[in-house]
Amino acid sequence: MHSALLDALAVLFPVDCAGCGAADRSVCDACRAALGQPVIHSRTPGGLPVRSAVAYEGTARSLLLALKEDNRTDVAAALRRTLAPLLDPALTLVAVPPSRQGYRRRGYDPVRLLLPRTLRALQVARQTSAQKSLGEAERARNRAGSLRATGSLAGLRLAIADDVMTTGATLDEAARAIRAAGGEAVEAVTFAATPRYFERSP
Ligand SMILES: [Zn+2]
Repeated sequence: MHSALLDALAVLFPVDCAGCGAADRSVCDACRAALGQPVIHSRTPGGLPVRSAVAYEGTARSLLLALKEDNRTDVAAALRRTLAPLLDPALTLVAVPPSRQGYRRRGYDPVRLLLPRTLRALQVARQTSAQKSLGEAERARNRAGSLRATGSLAGLRLAIADDVMTTGATLDEAARAIRAAGGEAVEAVTFAATPRYFERSP
């Protein structure tokens, strides 16, 4: 939506900024400015190149958590604008599907709100156990075979889209499922990347 229209709506329906709590529109100017960061380049353990718009910390993390855990779907537009310049028009975007529990709990898919024009070509084939308690190698094992393509992806060059790159195990599993369906996973694009898993360029 147009910025002026959003401001008009904020007058009619006052909201707090989801990033800092200021009584403003859904993402205030200061929090918007905090999203303007150099693109982060990293790789998954399987070697897939990943580009991410922001580091998963501070304001960017608060805004993404508000979208994912606090029903603040109104912040999606600001996050979408941050992510849009990273999208390569030569590649078809395919979204990592939400876990069944995640989708049931939220009633919406945050990745779809960030990237509405993605192919829904992957689905959850098997529920994985909770990832948080597992080490990296265990996470990778836990993920293997957890996704599958809904049909043939032969001849397609794809970019995998997700909200956060953590260890990259999920992105590798998506790439595996794409290759199994005959597609080519060229890269991944995520809104945020967890600082522990990438090196900042000087
Ligand atoms: Zn703010």
